[in-house]
Amino acid sequence: MKVTFPHMGNLWIALKALFEKLGHEVIPPPPVTRNTIELGVRYAPEFACLPLKVNVGNFIEGLEKGAETVVMLGGSGPCRFGYYAQVEREILKDLGYSFNIIVVDPPMGDWQRFLQDLQPLGNGCGWREVWDALTLAWEKIKALDQIHRTLLKVQFYNPRVTWKCYDHAVKAINGVDDKKLLQRATSEGIRKLALFSENQNGTFAPLKIVIVGEVFMMWEPYVNLDLEKALGGMGVEVIRSAYLSDWICDNVLFNPRHMLRRIKFKKAAKPYLNCFIGGHGWESVGESVLYARKKIDGIIHVLPFTCMPEIVAQSILPAVSRDYHLPVLTLSLDEHSAQAGFLTRIEAFVDLIRERKQITA
Ligand code: SF4
Repeated sequence: MKVTFPHMGNLWIALKALFEKLGHEVIPPPPVTRNTIELGVRYAPEFACLPLKVNVGNFIEGLEKGAETVVMLGGSGPCRFGYYAQVEREILKDLGYSFNIIVVDPPMGDWQRFLQDLQPLGNGCGWREVWDALTLAWEKIKALDQIHRTLLKVQFYNPRVTWKCYDHAVKAINGVDDKKLLQRATSEGIRKLALFSENQNGTFAPLKIVIVGEVFMMWEPYVNLDLEKALGGMGVEVIRSAYLSDWICDNVLFNPRHMLRRIKFKKAAKPYLNCFIGGHGWESVGESVLYARKKIDGIIHVLPFTCMPEIVAQSILPAVSRDYHLPVLTLSLDEHSAQAGFLTRIEAFVDLIRERKQITA
């Protein structure tokens, strides 16, 4: 099969490794650009959320490059995510593309159905090969997250060079198809990045800002207008509240440590929100409270304009901000968001918390 899928941050690297190992021809969607968004905006419903529009753009770009099968994650729950794959299929069919779509819904305890969904992607491989492909993809996801975490801890020392090191490490991880080489590329990337903090004399204390919100907006730098890099350039240590590996541990692997974290965030969110509202809305509230109890200087909440779960979270976060005396900035983004106004808002927020810190020091 000639397979394509959503680009979303570094997800494409893991999916490319997975499908290549299974013997498919992989047509990764090109990185998200203005063109991707324009395609999505042209063909998706106006009030659809931005991630859907970006996915439509990704798929059109992938299909134009020769892909015949689109792989998309399914979902359930109160927000629109459960309809994404169906809406995307209808849009692409109306445009005249001839393709097959495979929708993989998270197992939610029904492993038989989950494995059935995955069967066409198995490409006739034996269990051993499928296992090797899945574990390689998983190791890549963990490696990419580790490198990213390390980058965020040091990028404020030298944004230009640290991001260069990071890009180099990501490229190396993308280029290997063996777990041993992957380990080597990861340790090398982490070692190089860690040097930036080792070379400091420990006197510089950066502001610490946590990013919470809708996961696509957190993980895809093009749509969040390079928020993390911009903050790094302002001398801020960024803490991303969730990575792709966390999402997989929560929704697919049901990792006990993550289950414990989930219990904690639900307890923390309880005075404000006590039920699942779809997407990542519950997490945005709970994680904000958990982080607010730690020594951080501010929270930035990112969401796509019209995202239902995050609009609920947005309406709650001012109460969290008031109760914990912590500045919170909400950034609602869509295809019209532009770098200039966006940077001005972030700069103002960072200046505010920097002054606040000096006054309370
Ligand atoms: S979480 Fe928000 S952005 Fe994602 S599908 Fe649901 S409504 Fe859309």
